[in-house]
Amino acid sequence: MQPRDLSAHVPYEAGRGIEEVARELGRDPDEFVKLASNENPLGPSPAASEAIREAAGRANSYPTAAHTDLTAAVADAWRVDDEQVWLGNGGDGALDYLARATLSPGDDVLVPDPGFSYYAMSARYHHGEVAEYPLPAADDFAMDADTVLDHYDGERVVYVTSPHNPTGRVMALDEVERVARETDEETLVVVDEAYGEYADEPSAVSIVGGAASKDAGLSEATEDRETRDDVAVLRTFSKAYGLAGVRLGYAVVPADWGDAYARVNTPFAASEIACRAGIAAMGDREHVQDSVETAAWAREYIHENVDAPTLPSSGNFVLVRVGDGTETYEALKRRGVIVRDTSSYGLLEYVRVTCGTREETRRAVEELNEVLA
Ligand SMILES: *Cc1c(COP(=O)(O)O)cnc(C)c1O
Repeated sequence: MQPRDLSAHVPYEAGRGIEEVARELGRDPDEFVKLASNENPLGPSPAASEAIREAAGRANSYPTAAHTDLTAAVADAWRVDDEQVWLGNGGDGALDYLARATLSPGDDVLVPDPGFSYYAMSARYHHGEVAEYPLPAADDFAMDADTVLDHYDGERVVYVTSPHNPTGRVMALDEVERVARETDEETLVVVDEAYGEYADEPSAVSIVGGAASKDAGLSEATEDRETRDDVAVLRTFSKAYGLAGVRLGYAVVPADWGDAYARVNTPFAASEIACRAGIAAMGDREHVQDSVETAAWAREYIHENVDAPTLPSSGNFVLVRVGDGTETYEALKRRGVIVRDTSSYGLLEYVRVTCGTREETRRAVEELNEVLA
């Protein structure tokens, strides 16, 4: 027998890792810097590493208490109810739960193009169909409500990424609110804030349920807004918290979704190790602040020093218009700097450079300028 017809599905293309590139080129991994996957160059919080070591000895037990504790800590930080926090195996896992909870077979979703490929993948896993709204390249991929609404046709789920990957652009919260207001009541707007900590814009959690707080380094809502029952927000520990390897993220869902999570989740969606790491990371605000400041410095440095047009970014990466993206990516790789070839996003003229440490960022810019020259 065969799996079901998967011809509409496309595999996820991750940024290349140092080990695999070094092996391919027959070189020493130590010669490379990887600025390809928007990982945190400062590593995890030392408190999170310690929590992981401590949790190792309890790995024989299911994570009952840890799951509850992390859910409560996240809910507390955002001032929402525990039931509104859906932990997942990475933000991607939480995206799956949103799809499971909303899509019936044949339902449509609307995703940005260019955009994060997992929205469409997840929708297809759940027997959904995918439509796209184009982001305007001519306008440096700026996003407002009309960018979405002009292409909206009653889809069940609309995905907005803010800050957007790979462009770095944000959609102002007023515009997100307008998307939610002007789409059907039965349309869920998923606001993906995987890079929310790096942005100045207040979190859309403030329109999901209650004012967000600055606790644990989470973004602050500047004003009390009317809350809605058709917006969910995605957050992750993979970026500013430096925990991409443990796979931990969550969605904040509308207040009256009741026990939907219990009905759709894979039991113990986040592991004991991930939950303990997450709790410790939330307690280390300094690490998040350092991470955000390092990214802000690197963004500025890239904007000012790369000899090519760059897009304004609110994430921990910058999209650079280099001409031939794949050629630039290959040339940089030979020079020991791995960036993201954005051709899988359909952006052939660009590369995406993750914000590294000061040393890594300076080296990347230097090599990039030599390749461009
Ligand atoms: C990184 C990222 C996520 C979440 O990734 P996880 O590692 O699964 O938490 C979600 N959306 C976007 C746009 C991202 O770049």
